[in-house]
Amino acid sequence: MTAGPPGILRVPDILEHKRDGLALSRAEIEFLINGYARGEVPDYQMAAFAMAVNFRGMTSEETTDLTRAMLHSGEILDLSDLEGPKADKHSTGGVGDKTSLILAPLVATCGVTVPMISGRGLSFSGGTLDKLESIPGFRVGLSLAEFRRVLRAHKLGFIGQTVEIAPADKKLYALRDVTATVPVLPLIVASIMGKKLAEGIDALILDVKTGNGAFMAKEEDAITLAQRMVAIGKGMGKRVAAVITDMNEPTGHMVGNALEIKESVKTLRGEGPKDLTDLSVELAAWMLVLTSVEPDLEAGRKRIFAAIASGAGLQKLRQVIEAQGGDPRVCDDVSRLPKAAHRHEVRAETSGFLHRIGCRATGESSMILGAGRNTVADTVDPAVGIELGRKVGDAVQKGDLLATLHYNDRVRLDGALVRLSGAFEIAETPIYRQSLVRRVVD
Ligand code: URA
Repeated sequence: MTAGPPGILRVPDILEHKRDGLALSRAEIEFLINGYARGEVPDYQMAAFAMAVNFRGMTSEETTDLTRAMLHSGEILDLSDLEGPKADKHSTGGVGDKTSLILAPLVATCGVTVPMISGRGLSFSGGTLDKLESIPGFRVGLSLAEFRRVLRAHKLGFIGQTVEIAPADKKLYALRDVTATVPVLPLIVASIMGKKLAEGIDALILDVKTGNGAFMAKEEDAITLAQRMVAIGKGMGKRVAAVITDMNEPTGHMVGNALEIKESVKTLRGEGPKDLTDLSVELAAWMLVLTSVEPDLEAGRKRIFAAIASGAGLQKLRQVIEAQGGDPRVCDDVSRLPKAAHRHEVRAETSGFLHRIGCRATGESSMILGAGRNTVADTVDPAVGIELGRKVGDAVQKGDLLATLHYNDRVRLDGALVRLSGAFEIAETPIYRQSLVRRVVD
């Protein structure tokens, strides 16, 4: 049942309709989102809306209308004056998920323009913008004219949602982060697709996470999320595919902003952990296939591995860091990144094989150390986070280092340790690693 013809629209009525489980009309959704983007609808009404959607859901038609409203809350970039294909990748959010920082420069070296509009940390998951801002001087708040200049010169640039692009997402994203309304399928669809479709891209690969450290813990929910996003993207004439990937342990070894930049640089040098390297290469290969730069994934992977081996990817990252005001020397000397004052080690109490690392607990623990936010106004501490000493499947001896917590505040450390307790499960029997990519939705 829908809420019926709009008449005179009022936000309290729209909230009442959603609260009572009615499907909202396109007019109602546009009224709410445009009002919010213009500052006429206050945060408390929008928070009530987000929570009502959490409990009542949205039909696929409503989700499409919400995505369109988010997209049209700002400008759509026209990059038709830039030569060659344009593509991007977006993840639904994970722990230690730094693949954007690795694949974007690699893909840009293959002739594809990557105009990356990213988000900040959300709930227990990290955000590309917060990670980039840990590089001294790096500016994510470029004007659109500056962003275009960086893209024209380097085929790659990173910005956040702005007052011009996806402004409704900029506000709603921050609000959801602190109102327990992140893992809400229609809101994730509209947030991601609303900003990605504003980028003026031809192709998009979506990394839809599932598992303990993902917003969609159940694989069937991740598949529905992927299907909705792919359908909306295709409906708007884009080449879009989604890979459903496992998020039951953090990606790579590092969780936390500067720590993740450090690991990204290492991976671009060809010295990264296998899971992180393989996932970054896979998603990058998809971008080359979706833009027809390479005929198939095998050719795409080869090309990306070659860009790692030649150092072209790292050189591209250096150039873009410099173009956006950051210190490019971090690519050669990661000790220039912010460092926490103290470290605390967590060691194995028994021997055996590591069966499980509580992925969400690791993300939350890193947040408690200061890598994420509790209120919209919080600032993040770029230096803190968690460095894993072992990955799932590794053999472990009693006393081995399981994790190092990088911290600046003793009280926060205590909270982070409580959250991390029981996160490492060691058992006697060996356990085999499964492939990160569970399935493809295209
Ligand atoms: N990433 C986004 O950009 N938005 C979400 O809602 C979740 C992950």
